[in-house]
Amino acid sequence: MSLETLETCPVCNNTSFENFLNVTDYTVSQKEFTIQKCITCQFLFTNPRPDESEIGDYYQSQDYISHNDQAKGLISKVYGIVRDYTIGQKVKMINNLSNGKGKLLDIGCGTGNFVNAGKENGWNVFGTEPDPNARNAAAAKTGNIIFESIQAPELISEKFDIITMWHVLEHVHYLNETLDWLDQHINQNGTILIAVPNPESYDAANYGRYWAAYDVPRHLYHFTKNTMQKLLGNHGLTIQQTLPMWFDSFYVGMLSTKYKGQKVDIPDSIKTGLVSNWKGRSTEEKQINTSSIIYVIKKK
Ligand SMILES: [Zn+2]
Repeated sequence: MSLETLETCPVCNNTSFENFLNVTDYTVSQKEFTIQKCITCQFLFTNPRPDESEIGDYYQSQDYISHNDQAKGLISKVYGIVRDYTIGQKVKMINNLSNGKGKLLDIGCGTGNFVNAGKENGWNVFGTEPDPNARNAAAAKTGNIIFESIQAPELISEKFDIITMWHVLEHVHYLNETLDWLDQHINQNGTILIAVPNPESYDAANYGRYWAAYDVPRHLYHFTKNTMQKLLGNHGLTIQQTLPMWFDSFYVGMLSTKYKGQKVDIPDSIKTGLVSNWKGRSTEEKQINTSSIIYVIKKK
């Protein structure tokens, strides 16, 4: 196993970190990883982490369902039903954020459900996906070429009206390079949507090191609203608004109770999900603080 250690903070370049939390990879390796916190800017990141050549080994699980339409089990069934509903909501969201239906790029499109729904809704869609099985499934579903990554030469001169990254940015090794790419490939009035887990949510605090959305070592970063805004600001981007993801608290709760007690505790995960959504709703005094957050991002 080859791990790489970040010596400088990806957000502020300072070099002093403290250990924040030790978390076990319950999904694949059962190994423990450390999440560190930058003392200067509070950015949370998994450190050390598998390097790019090794990370693929940590996705080798039938449970890694975002890449597998055939996964079985209760959690996967619920996941599938909710996914179909939330895909509809996401298409509505991009329609509301855009004047007309232009070019849509979904980075890390998995098996292509969202990008296909966008295409059926009239968008000119593009997708990237590193996993070859998921990529082939997405290509078959959409009838489009799905690229391996944003580095594909076919994308060099493209610009997009909407770029989406649904639970993807926390997985990419080249964080700053990716944000530069987004800034260069979004149209002047375009919108970038980045959905990531929120380690400041109630369910994160409630489950602690069992919180499933830490998902080490696949999640390399653990963004808060503050660190996300700092990072985006370094790349000419800014948060226009934050939106909730209501279902993630229940799904993450089910997985978290399984990690904590060896089996899923439905009542506990429903209760925690409801409390998390209630505490995380936006009010006049405070911003969204749900289990996962959708960042609506514009050029500065
Ligand atoms: Zn920092």
